[in-house]
Amino acid sequence: MQFDTAAEKLGLEDYLCDILKTPNRTVTVNFPVKMDDGTIKVFTGYRVQHNNARGPYKGGIRFSPHVDLDEVNALASWMTWKTAVVDIPFGGAKGGVACDPFELSEGELESLTRRFAYEISDIIGPHVDIPAPDINTNAQVMAWIVDTYSMGQRQDVFAVVTGKPLFLGGSEGRTEATGRGVVITAMEAVNDLGLQPEDLTAILQGYGNVGSNAARILDEEGVKVIGVSDISTALYDPEGLDLKDLEDYVSEHRLLEGYERAEHISPKEKLLEMEADILVPAAIENQITAENADSIKAKLVVEGANGPTTPEADRILYEKGVLVVPDILANAGGVTVSYFEWIQNIQREQWPYELVVSKLTDKMVSAYRTVRNLADEEGVDMRTAAYMIAIGKVAEAITTRGIFP
Ligand code: GLU
Repeated sequence: MQFDTAAEKLGLEDYLCDILKTPNRTVTVNFPVKMDDGTIKVFTGYRVQHNNARGPYKGGIRFSPHVDLDEVNALASWMTWKTAVVDIPFGGAKGGVACDPFELSEGELESLTRRFAYEISDIIGPHVDIPAPDINTNAQVMAWIVDTYSMGQRQDVFAVVTGKPLFLGGSEGRTEATGRGVVITAMEAVNDLGLQPEDLTAILQGYGNVGSNAARILDEEGVKVIGVSDISTALYDPEGLDLKDLEDYVSEHRLLEGYERAEHISPKEKLLEMEADILVPAAIENQITAENADSIKAKLVVEGANGPTTPEADRILYEKGVLVVPDILANAGGVTVSYFEWIQNIQREQWPYELVVSKLTDKMVSAYRTVRNLADEEGVDMRTAAYMIAIGKVAEAITTRGIFP
């Protein structure tokens, strides 16, 4: 639906719609992993390569019980639009393994990662398809993938994935990059609305890599963070949460469950509807829906997650006058610093943190302004404008390259 609205505005030819609405390649792999107790379990993983007209496929790998082909398909196409919106020379892909990583030992997780990396090693590569972290995957998982891929190639190939540990070809500022990008775009929007960060409060759904970093950086910008949630619970304190204390708690207990220095909201989904100026959904897809959109009080929604708002909810928010900074713009900071990491690997450089942050800020601000301007010119919401820009760029790359053979 999001694609169709923008494609229609662009007057996109049918064959381009057909190309862009389907992934170039979908790969499903079923593979056995030896568990600690000696049993063997079969897991299913996916890698979907949506489009590479603008450059090599790019996108994360998630480990989660609800991963399926439909989800990975949608996430892969969002990567194509995301890389186009922030104008980095990559296409879009996504991968995932259906599993609960918290039920696996460290050793089992390593075996699963390595076997999955082996299964997809024919279709990834530093100039072909470059995975990265996503939900429940991290720098350690990327290091295992680099090692597995490099063993097969019989040479070190650090640029095959991004989001690596700093001492193994990773980039300064990559871990916080998605959260930082969310805040950079949020601050642009705050400015557009004529507001001051010091006067504002924020709620974040999701306290993983994106949510926790966005919360910290929002706080540094002067915004009072009054609510956060994760899969276990939701916390709320109108006076402002002690983020340092929360971070310490989560690094010890993994989840927010049991935290005693704030009120717990039940059911946790109600947090989205609490009084706050800024709402950052930073968890999973389909959280703001036709059921709760009308109850949302925030005047600004900045999508840290991929696909957190359904099309029906989007329409409701637009009609209520809520400004939504769409996922393919708001959360593009991660893949942008992934691109910086990839350049550093190819050029054998290590950029300082300040340089990464300043280059990220330039990219995000410029992408935000381009989307905002088109939205104003066309009288559409920022999501439609972002899609128009992204689809236009990818379509131009396809038509200019021509159809093979
Ligand atoms: N998983 C992140 C995303 O959804 C980052 C992808 C990447 O860096 O390739 O944007």
